[in-house]
Amino acid sequence: MPTFYLTTPIYYVNARPHLGHAYTTIAADAMVRYRRLAGDDVRFLTGTDEHGDNIARAATAAGVSPQAYADEISATFREMWKSLGISNDDFIRTTEARHKKIVREVLQKLWDAGEIYLGTYGGHYCFGCERFYTEKEIVDGKCPDHQRPLEWIEEQNYFFKMSKYQDWLIGYIKDRPDLIQPGRYRNEILGFLRDPLQDLSISRPRTRLEWGIPLPFDDKYVTYVWFDALINYVSALGDLDSERTRRYWPHVRHMIGKDIVKPHAIYWPCMLKAAGLDVFRELRVTGYWTIEGQKMSKSLGNVVEPPAYTSKYGNDAFRYFLLREMVFGLDADFSDAAFRTRFNADLANDLGNLVSRVTTLIVNLAGGKVPAPDAVARPDDVSGLKAASERAAAETDRAMADFAFHRALAAIWEFIGAVNRYVDTTQPWALAKQPERRAELDTVLYALGESLRVLGVLLVPFVPEAATRIREGLGQPGAPRLSEVVWGRLAPGTPVAKIAGLFPRIEEKKEGPAASATTAPEPSHVSIADFRKVDLRVAEVIAAEPVPKSKKLLKLTVSLGAEQRTIVAGIAEHYAPADLVGKKVVVVANLEPAKLMGVESKGMLLAGSAGPVLGVLSPDRELPPGAKVS
Ligand SMILES: [Zn+2]
Repeated sequence: MPTFYLTTPIYYVNARPHLGHAYTTIAADAMVRYRRLAGDDVRFLTGTDEHGDNIARAATAAGVSPQAYADEISATFREMWKSLGISNDDFIRTTEARHKKIVREVLQKLWDAGEIYLGTYGGHYCFGCERFYTEKEIVDGKCPDHQRPLEWIEEQNYFFKMSKYQDWLIGYIKDRPDLIQPGRYRNEILGFLRDPLQDLSISRPRTRLEWGIPLPFDDKYVTYVWFDALINYVSALGDLDSERTRRYWPHVRHMIGKDIVKPHAIYWPCMLKAAGLDVFRELRVTGYWTIEGQKMSKSLGNVVEPPAYTSKYGNDAFRYFLLREMVFGLDADFSDAAFRTRFNADLANDLGNLVSRVTTLIVNLAGGKVPAPDAVARPDDVSGLKAASERAAAETDRAMADFAFHRALAAIWEFIGAVNRYVDTTQPWALAKQPERRAELDTVLYALGESLRVLGVLLVPFVPEAATRIREGLGQPGAPRLSEVVWGRLAPGTPVAKIAGLFPRIEEKKEGPAASATTAPEPSHVSIADFRKVDLRVAEVIAAEPVPKSKKLLKLTVSLGAEQRTIVAGIAEHYAPADLVGKKVVVVANLEPAKLMGVESKGMLLAGSAGPVLGVLSPDRELPPGAKVS
């Protein structure tokens, strides 16, 4: 069984989780879900990076301790991933004891091996900020915050002998074209390595910074934040010689944003080499999201937080958009209009309609059970659909090996398009009107059911909630497996339930983009006087039976206390007649009588519904039949 260990960056706790964090985490989640589907031994890690002077300063500004500050922000990340359905196996915090222990172990190991020495560190320092500024951060020789000149100060610090690994690192990267991807980041790093590599300062004096992990060999210093943070990928597995570390570490792959390539591609391999640990298998670098063409920033007020979309459209829709829209490794643009276009075109029209069409056809034309295909009827177009499913599966596999989520989705949507065209060309509803073509109809319905079953597996990494609903509707219990994507596995006789409302279309409203984000038009107001015209009553169901020749309707005999009457209700797909007898329900008593399938209905039963779920309204206390509801 192949082993696959994937990490996201650990997110710095100086900001709440936004679109950028969510994208990397969702992409990693899609990848591990795919590897699990393929049967790999998978481990998936995310977490938070919590030390350093930025956090110490932010905590001071907020008037809380650095630990309290880190606790609060770290919790928002953990909660966000939970609400987005992220399937991480572990969540590491760099303030946890298990992490600090391994950091100190690694430092001690390097110290004992002579890989670390005490030297002099010089830099541009602002006494107002109490921190060093890098050349890049300095504006006109001044502190960007205080607008006053920086001072060059020198202090004693510990250094890791990184320079001695320069030639080794260049050779290691050159020998492995796939180590850093996309290739332009590999080229950038090789370019950077043409200049002499400096030793890395790995400590800060505690007189300046308390908020870090003390060095095990000199507790007047704390560990530099990068040296601390990178080790999370190992420390989360346990002790360096633990069974879990031996099992997963040789297979580790890191997914990161492009702002942190240098520490991951230069410091980290040198640290691992010095500590006698395997270098990661690959470093996958993602691009940035712009928002409506602009950089996402607090000052522009355009920071996108996932709940703005997931609360209205669901996790799947948000995941789908991010994975489909960004070519992994390049920058992409997020806009409300693009989101809605993809939602309506790809999810509502293509996928949602297909799932609803096919399950409805099987329920209505085959009694809700997958019919047996006929080997002779329509062999050509069935084999075309089978081939399309195989192409989708093969291309998804190739794309996922490249972390090309957009290509995997394009391939799956090709297949969805082929199935939609198959419904249009075969016209099962027309075949159903010709009894002599029953074998053809059964063959078509089988092929459609089988196509949905395949989609219920292939879609798992990308829209996991929808994939589950598809498999449930098709009576496919248990954990899905990629090995089940073999045409013909769907057993005839499998019960099928209608799946409606998978991705309800986003209706455009006229007020403009900000106000147009609801999925259904708002009902207009009714006056109390109008509402009072509706006579709502508690009723008791005395008898219930199916209406002949109707799949949806039940004929109910209800008592309103003083009188009994007949009400026809469209709930046969959700309730067995026996479940209803004796039940107290709510009815509209003064509805105009109407004839439904030849039965006169005097009143209407109230029920709520959401997607495939329908529930009849019932008072939650004992009320006599005929009691008024208002
Ligand atoms: Zn300053």
